[in-house]
Amino acid sequence: MSDCIFCKIINGEIPSKKVYENDFVYAFDDINPKAKVHTLVVPKKHFDSLNELDDEKIMSEILKGIKEVAKIKGIDSYRLQVNTGKAEGQEVMHLHFHILSNTVERK
Ligand code: AMP
Repeated sequence: MSDCIFCKIINGEIPSKKVYENDFVYAFDDINPKAKVHTLVVPKKHFDSLNELDDEKIMSEILKGIKEVAKIKGIDSYRLQVNTGKAEGQEVMHLHFHILSNTVERK
């Protein structure tokens, strides 16, 4: 989507601190971190929110991407947050999983 900020990050039009990338997902550090580790994992294909996600391959790739980011960041303990819908705090309308951790056990 041409006016989507996360699509622009994925295609390099807007810079980001990339953590991980494969054919299906892109992960980058949140610009306004709310924990010691705060990374966003997003599907490269645009879905407005979790409600629109209908592709099982992409669902599994997102989960694999989350685990890759945890490995890269050296965290065994973390929380996932997926704000879904404006009324529950979703500000960027491109599906994204927040990975949040304050317990960096290894590096
Ligand atoms: P949400 O409220 O779930 O839609 O979260 C959107 C998240 O995107 C927030 O935590 C923002 O800090 C983050 N964000 C917005 N713009 C950028 C950007 N250019 N680079 C990295 N993170 C961003």
